[in-house]
Amino acid sequence: MLSRRLLFPHVIEMNHQARRRLGCCVYLVFDGDDWMLIDIGYEDTVGEIIELIRQMDFRLSHCRYLVATHADADHVQGLPKAKELLPNATTVGHPLAAKSLAEGDRILTYAEIPAQGISIPMPRIKLDKTINEGDVLELGGLRLEVWNTPGHTVSQLAFRLGNLLFSGDNIFRDGCVGNIDAHHGSDIPAFIESLTRIRDSNVEWLLPSHGPAFRKDNKLLQATIDRLETYLHLADFGTCAIDWPLLDEWEDELAQGVDLVKS
Ligand SMILES: [Zn+2]
Repeated sequence: MLSRRLLFPHVIEMNHQARRRLGCCVYLVFDGDDWMLIDIGYEDTVGEIIELIRQMDFRLSHCRYLVATHADADHVQGLPKAKELLPNATTVGHPLAAKSLAEGDRILTYAEIPAQGISIPMPRIKLDKTINEGDVLELGGLRLEVWNTPGHTVSQLAFRLGNLLFSGDNIFRDGCVGNIDAHHGSDIPAFIESLTRIRDSNVEWLLPSHGPAFRKDNKLLQATIDRLETYLHLADFGTCAIDWPLLDEWEDELAQGVDLVKS
C-alpha cells in the first residue's frame, strides 16, 4: 500500500501525493471509506491519478463525488474517463458549467483559442447534478459548503471545509488570479467581490486549483483586490473594464479646443 501524504486532515492533493506536477490541483477529500475528488484535470493523467488512489487503499466504488470547480478543459477534460472508472460517483458542478459542458462550448471551456492556434479535444459532458451557492456536499461526517465565487468565470465554485477553502482559480500563492478574459465570462467587479468575501471570511487556509496551498494572507488578498480595482479603468482589459478615464479627459479637451502647437 502506498502511504497517504496528507496535506491537511481529510485532504490529499494528487500532485503533492505524486511529488511531481501532473496538472491542475486534484484534491481528494475523504472521511472513513467515503471520498471525493475536486477537479480531475486532463484526460491523459486520469489513469495515473486513479491508480495512485487505488494504491493508497481507497475503494473505487466508494468515490461519492467528482466535482467540477468550473468548466475549463484543464480542470474537467478527464471527467468522462474518471466517471467510467468510478461509476458510483455523482458528477457535480455549477448550472452554467453544466450548460457549457453539455453543449460542448469550446470557447467557454478553453478548448479552442483560434487566434493562438489552440485546439484540444473536449468531450461533451453531462453532469449528474448541479450545485450552487448555499448547497452542502456531505461526505461521511464532513460537510463541504458550496460557494459561488464568480470573476474568472461566472460558474466558478469554491468549497469550504472548516478552516479550509478549496478556492478554485480565485487567487494563487503569488497573488495572481485566474485568467481575466471577456470571452470566458470574466467579470472584474464580481472578481473583486469574490476576493473580498474570501478576505473577510475566517477561513485560514486556501487550497487553490493551481500551485501550492497557502495560509490566507489578507495583505496579499488586499494587494490583489487593489490591483484588480485598477483594471476597472484600464483599456488593457477591454470590455472587462468599466470605463476609460482618458476618453473623458479627451472630451473635455476637445470641447475646450486644446491645441498642442500654436498656429
Ligand atoms: Zn484554472
